Amino acid sequence: MNKNINIFKISESKINLLDLNRQDLRYFLTSLGAKSFCTEQIMKWIYNHYCNDFYKMFNISIKIRNKLYEKSYISASEFIEEKISYDGTIKWITSINNQRIETVYIPEKKRSTLCISSQIGCSLKCNFCATGKAGFQRNLKVSEIIAQIWQANKILKEKNITNHVTNIVFMGMGEPLLNLNNVVSALKIILDEYGFGLSKRRITLSTSGIVPALDKLRNTIDVSLAISLHAPNDIIRNLIMPINKKYNISSILNSTLKYLKYSKANRDGVTIEYVMLDGVNDSNENAQQLATLLSNIPSKINLIPWNSFLGSSFLCSNIRRINIFANILRKRGFTAIIRKNRGQDINAACGQLTGSIINPLKK
Ligand code: SAH
Ligand code: SF4
Repeated sequence: MNKNINIFKISESKINLLDLNRQDLRYFLTSLGAKSFCTEQIMKWIYNHYCNDFYKMFNISIKIRNKLYEKSYISASEFIEEKISYDGTIKWITSINNQRIETVYIPEKKRSTLCISSQIGCSLKCNFCATGKAGFQRNLKVSEIIAQIWQANKILKEKNITNHVTNIVFMGMGEPLLNLNNVVSALKIILDEYGFGLSKRRITLSTSGIVPALDKLRNTIDVSLAISLHAPNDIIRNLIMPINKKYNISSILNSTLKYLKYSKANRDGVTIEYVMLDGVNDSNENAQQLATLLSNIPSKINLIPWNSFLGSSFLCSNIRRINIFANILRKRGFTAIIRKNRGQDINAACGQLTGSIINPLKK
């Protein structure tokens, strides 16, 4: 039996088509009596033309358009606030029932990355992260994940910004692997040629390493992975990431290795994220330990200067220390990149997203 049957039977209310990937949409449309090819036609309207009005979909029969109108709708929550950084980074906020979703657009010369959220808040409480400190509110629906990309592309078009979104990173609020089903369904739409049509190498899922979910992901979808390691051993990781007591470093690296085995998206290796915390994880010895730990993991290491937020007692390692740390890793044969922090002045950098009020969008 199709597992989606329940969605449509139980649903008394109308369905938001942004909640459905191609397979779900086909099932829904067939249940309305539409021909199978109608699925691709409607996806084109939604994701190519950014059309949310069934009556403008002239190549769909009136009969099906009427049924669609009766049973469904297309709605992407609008951004209600916007803040633009001196470096061109834009932070947008959506508000749904007073809960805020944050999305960050980071333009670069050759690409533009959209950093999207998968949850409101996060339950994992990493103590260097403002999102973790703010606590967990809820998982985002597929449509709420998709709406961030849909609205960003639409706004960029309206502003005539030619740097449209070329890359997507799940590095906003939340732990994507704790919202696995919705994230996978959203990924399918992002990858789909009739959806946003991005290649798997341009989509990065960043995770603190929820091992059972990572194991499931391996059998479901291939995208670029970024593992938030942040420590060269379990003692330090336990101190800064409570989730390490459940899934320790070796279990995460084992699961990552299995993912890499079949992954084309990660054929240049997995990204290891390592936040630089002064006096916590940034010594020469820590760098050597990290290199040894990763010696059999094809990987590139992203060193992330820690971004401060109100109420945190950490300090960022100084740039000299970060360079020494990076050079030790390079001497041991790793690619070590020091990540540029973008949008710090508008609290849009890694780990600074809490969903707080910024600057209302003027309509
Ligand atoms: N929950 C996921 C994805 C969101 S966090 C994860 O943890 O991977 C995205 C990245 O920002 C992660 O690598 C996270 O560890 C890092 N990060 C969190 N707080 C930070 C901070 N204050 N400064 C720099 N990086 C931070
Ligand atoms: Fe959650 Fe990631 Fe922040 Fe940890 S770093 S609290 S997993 S959002």
